[in-house]
Amino acid sequence: MRTIQGVGVSAGIAIGTIRVLDTADHAVERRVVNDPKTEVERFRAARDAAVAQLKQLRNKAAAELGEGKAELFDTHQLMLQDPDYVESVEALITQSKVNAEYAVKSTAEQFAAMFAAMDNSYMQARAADVKDVSRRVINVLEGKRGGAAADDEGGESHIILAEDLAPSETVQLDRAKVLGFVTAKGSANSHTAILARTMGLPAIIDIGDAFDPDDDGHTAVIDGTSGMAFVDPDETTLAEYRGRKAKYEERLRLLQELKGKPTETKSGQQVRLYANIGRPSDVTAVLANDAEGIGLFRSEFLYLESEDYPTEEFQFEAYKEVTQKMGDRLVVIRTLDIGADKQVGYFNLEHEDNPALGYRAIRICLTRPEIFKVQLRALLRASVYGNIAIMLPMITSVQEVRDAKQILDEVKNELRGEHVDFNEHIQVGIMIETPASVIMADELAAEVDFFSIGTNDLTQYTLACDRQNPNLGRFADPHSPAVLRMIRMATEAAHRHGIWCGICGELGADLSLTDTFLEIGLDELSVSPTSVLPLRNAIRNH
Ligand code: PEP
Ligand code: MG
Repeated sequence: MRTIQGVGVSAGIAIGTIRVLDTADHAVERRVVNDPKTEVERFRAARDAAVAQLKQLRNKAAAELGEGKAELFDTHQLMLQDPDYVESVEALITQSKVNAEYAVKSTAEQFAAMFAAMDNSYMQARAADVKDVSRRVINVLEGKRGGAAADDEGGESHIILAEDLAPSETVQLDRAKVLGFVTAKGSANSHTAILARTMGLPAIIDIGDAFDPDDDGHTAVIDGTSGMAFVDPDETTLAEYRGRKAKYEERLRLLQELKGKPTETKSGQQVRLYANIGRPSDVTAVLANDAEGIGLFRSEFLYLESEDYPTEEFQFEAYKEVTQKMGDRLVVIRTLDIGADKQVGYFNLEHEDNPALGYRAIRICLTRPEIFKVQLRALLRASVYGNIAIMLPMITSVQEVRDAKQILDEVKNELRGEHVDFNEHIQVGIMIETPASVIMADELAAEVDFFSIGTNDLTQYTLACDRQNPNLGRFADPHSPAVLRMIRMATEAAHRHGIWCGICGELGADLSLTDTFLEIGLDELSVSPTSVLPLRNAIRNH
């Protein structure tokens, strides 16, 4: 038996035979062509065929996984139609007189390197996408079909083992025949990891050198929660994981029964159970997991995914879409939290030695109100379509809240002057994620409608432990009594002033603390969509 440790990115246990997918980048021959014009025509025809394949894949993904996940294939189509991409391929063919396959591969490598060098992890993850779509074009040029996974045929179900797995390959696989994924490379932020979670299949990434193509046909056990895999498991391991798998599946089945049930303890204490999102398309998962509202929409993702400041209209459409889909349920939209680990090139932020202690979030909004106002206008305009609340991040003082509210009032006046409707009673809350905001909680509570505790940053700033640093181990303990006391202090101050207090940091989903949070009296917990039902279960059992 061989034990492998990777990174678990999608929960669940699979036991089965390994199928190694040949997704390695095959060498592409460089040939000199005498008639570049014909070669450009060949490229265009192959590109069009690839776009047609992507359209089909889009429909398949939409039917099986929902519209949100199908959007990826729209992005892929756009990549193949991107003028810079097409121009680069055609210029190579015409100027260097090379074959189309070689020109596509060179362009893909150049674009992938450019994406990989970018500061933001979303754009870095796009490097795999541009290689993926280019491989599709090369396959068409070589007379093959689609991506490497397209030939997945045969009756038996397998655990897929691959060097790397492009998102389109993940979707092309016949879901009924895939038990789980293990890849040598990959990132938790990649679309493949996100798709695996949506498909509800266990997945492990980053097993590195433990990847061995000779494992093809061998039996394996994979655990997507712990990130552990066992090749040729012994009888004891097999028996143990069969038991764990049965328990896990039973748990999932039971959790489904909690949909539509109230989030309430046995003694009748109610907690509002909301979900966190980063993009409008995440609402599908929010609804599928029966969350009662959205407690944190990280609006900065709209900025991270744009190449320039997102316009008022673009933001308005995004906020409107989310709130309309949520009906009368509350949607808490956090104003942009740019800076620190969320860097955006077009903001032209100066390099800082300690960006987590630097120019970020509300500090940017208050010193660059022209950017803040665009977002506030979009939020207010969208507020008539549902139940939106505005939440301000990284607050450290009463003055910051007053300044932000003054800018909000100016925007409201502008809209009134333009006879544009908005919800006059829109709730305004703040994130409690700095020690200063906890210490000033009574004064702050008098200014706002709610508190939402960001335990990720509150832990970082309370314990002086960089949340990006993986080497701090036990020192970065969010269970520290100091952090828990901060949570209690903020909640009690909120209640003294008659406002509600929730948690939207990761700690909210920590089931070992659910009893503590109930005892403290938190009014709301906002967690990732897949954590909603397990948390409802824990609360109902309290
Ligand atoms: C937090 O800090 O806990 C939080 C929810 O915000 P983010 O993780 O986006 O900083
Ligand atoms: Mg935060």
